[in-house]
Amino acid sequence: MLDASVWSGRIYLGGEWVEPAGGETYPVVEPATGEELGRIGKAGPADVRTAAQHATEAQRAWAALPHTERAAVLRRAGDLWNAHADEVMGWNVREVGAVPGMAGFALGVAAQECYEAATLPSYPHGQVLASEQPRLSLAQRVPAGVVAVISPFNVPIILGIRAVAPALALGNAVILKPDPRTAVTGGVTMARIFEEAGLPAGVLQVLPGGADVGEALTSDPDVRVIAFTGSTAAGRKVGEAAGKHLKRAHLELGGNSAFLVLEDADVDQAVNLAAWGAFFHQGQICMTVGRHLVHESLYDAYVAKLAEKADHLPVGNPATDQVALGPIIDEGQRDKIHALVTGSVEAGARLAAGGTYEGLFYRPTVLADSPLDAPAYCEEVFGPVASVVKFSTLDEAVKLASSGDYGLSLGIVTRDALRGLELAARIPSGIVHINDQTVNDEANAPFGGVGASGTGSRHGGAEANVEAFTETRWVTVRSEPPTYPF
Ligand code: NAD
Repeated sequence: MLDASVWSGRIYLGGEWVEPAGGETYPVVEPATGEELGRIGKAGPADVRTAAQHATEAQRAWAALPHTERAAVLRRAGDLWNAHADEVMGWNVREVGAVPGMAGFALGVAAQECYEAATLPSYPHGQVLASEQPRLSLAQRVPAGVVAVISPFNVPIILGIRAVAPALALGNAVILKPDPRTAVTGGVTMARIFEEAGLPAGVLQVLPGGADVGEALTSDPDVRVIAFTGSTAAGRKVGEAAGKHLKRAHLELGGNSAFLVLEDADVDQAVNLAAWGAFFHQGQICMTVGRHLVHESLYDAYVAKLAEKADHLPVGNPATDQVALGPIIDEGQRDKIHALVTGSVEAGARLAAGGTYEGLFYRPTVLADSPLDAPAYCEEVFGPVASVVKFSTLDEAVKLASSGDYGLSLGIVTRDALRGLELAARIPSGIVHINDQTVNDEANAPFGGVGASGTGSRHGGAEANVEAFTETRWVTVRSEPPTYPF
C-alpha cells in the first residue's frame, strides 16, 4: 500500500499522485539512523490553490451522496488501517522513531476514529425549533465546505485522522498538510487508505509542505475551517490569519501538564505512572507530564525511584532493538531539549538522572528541586524530561498546578478519588485524569485544552465533531407566503 513507486517525489492532488508545481522534494529521513528512506514531493502555495479548486468541486458531489455511502467509505477506511497495520507501523517506527507499542496504539486509534466517524453521516443533523409564525423552523447542520487539516510531526497518524475522518464523514472535502518530517506516516498513509476505501477523487488531498503551505491554506478563500495541531507559537499565527480571513480555526496547541501526587498516594504506583507520562514517545507528546508536583512526605522517595527507573530505561533504535525510548525527531528538537535541561541546572535544579545524549538518543532525565523559574519547568520541553517540585498543602498544590500559560491535561494521584475530583475543579485544564497520568486518548472523547493549549475547541465524539466541522443554517418553510403591510 505504501510502495514508494506510488508517492516518490509526488503529492496527492485531485485524486492523483503528481509532481508538485515547484518540482521540488523533501528527503524522508529515519531519525534513528539518518538513513534516507525516500523522497516526497514538496508542495507549495500554488499547489494549495489548485487543491482548493479541486476540493470545492469534489465536496458538493461528496456531500450529496446518500449518507450510507459516506458511512461505508469510513468503515472501509477503518478496516484498511487494521488490514495494513504491519506496513503502516513499520513506517511509523522508522520515520517517526516511535516504539512499536506507540505505533500500534496510533493505528488502533486511527481505525477507531474512522469507525466513530462512520456514525456521523446518519447522526441527526439539526433541531426543530419553536416559531412564532405558522411555519416549520429548523436549525440544520450543513458541511462547512473545504476543511484544512495541519498536523505536527510527533503523532502524525492520530493528529491527522482525528480531524480528517470526521470532517470527511460530515460531507466536507479535506486538504491535509502533514509535517514534512513525517509526511509518509502522516500523509501518504491517509491518502492511500482513503483511495483504497473508495473516497471520490479530490475529496481528500495531501500536501506535504512547510509553514508557507500552512499559511496559504489559512488565507485561501475556499478553505472555510482550519483544524490545526502544533505549537502555540504557530497556532497564534494561524489564529491571527484565520481571524483576518474570517474563517474558523480549531487550535490544538502545546502543553506543560501537571501531575499531582498527594500525600496518601502509593509512591511506586505514582512513579510507574509518572515515568510513562514523562518518557513515553520520548516525551514528544502534547500531554506529556512536564511538571511533577509531589507532596513533601513522598518527595525524596519519588525522586529517587523515578531517577532509578529513568537510569534503567533502554534508549535506542526502535526498528532493531527492544527499547523504551526511540530517537528525538531531529537535531533541532534535541538541541532545544538539551538547552532547557542545561539552563535548568544553571538555574539551580539538581540533575537526578539523564541530561546526556548520543546522536538523537536523549536519556530520560529527572530534574529535582526545580526552581519555579527553571526553563524546563516553566516551558514545554517536548522531550523526556521530568521536573519535580514539592508542595506541603493542597492550596499550594493548586497554585503550582494552575500557574503557567498552558492547560491541556492534568493527572492527580490519591487514594481518595473524590478529593482528587474536588482538587481538579480548582485547576484550569481541558482534560483531567484522576489516578492516572496525563497521556490518554480515545476516539470518542472530546480532546482539547484551555489557555495557551488551545481555543478550547474539541476533536472527538459526535457532538464535538459536528460542532467543529459543520455550519448551522436556519431554515423556515411555510405552506403559503405571508402578507406584509406594504
Ligand atoms: P509546529 O507548530 O512547528 O508545526 C505544526 C504544523 O504546523 C506543521 O505541519 C508545520 O509545518 C505547520 N506550521 C508551522 N508554522 C505554520 C504557520 N505559520 N502557519 C500554518 N502552519 C504552520 O509544531 P511541531 O514542533 O511540529 O509540534 C510540536 C508541537 O505541537 C508541541 O508544541 C506540541 O505540544 C503540539 N501538539 C499539540 C497537540 C494537541 O492536541 N494539543 C498534539 C500534538 C502536538
